[in-house]
Amino acid sequence: MTRNTRQRAAIRRVFVTAERPLTPQEVLSAAKAGAPRLGIATVYRTIKALAEQGEICMVELPGEPPRYELAGKAHHHFFHCSECGHAYVVDGCVGDFELITPEGFVLERHEIVLYGKCSKCADMG
Ligand SMILES: [Zn+2]
Ligand SMILES: [Zn+2]
Repeated sequence: MTRNTRQRAAIRRVFVTAERPLTPQEVLSAAKAGAPRLGIATVYRTIKALAEQGEICMVELPGEPPRYELAGKAHHHFFHCSECGHAYVVDGCVGDFELITPEGFVLERHEIVLYGKCSKCADMG
């Protein structure tokens, strides 16, 4: 394997095993174990390539830098912890938003972000 292939594989593996969406900086820290010479520029470049190939997708929470997660997951939302700043996946969805969509409007999508403290941070406080 070339160095590039090895670094790319390490970054891909980070996304496959991640349980929450990650910023490029978090990807770098996690991938360093499998690719010690990895730098942030390579992480950005690889994320761009993986996104273009549809392997990962961007997660944008209001006022937050972009995060990335593996593409093709079932419908889900996010919980943003105000203490540690991590975004966690919330499986499933509560509702039928047609119920609150104004008459005559056509609903196409929705975004929900829950805010508060994750279980780790709630334990400490
Ligand atoms: Zn937290
Ligand atoms: Zn939903």
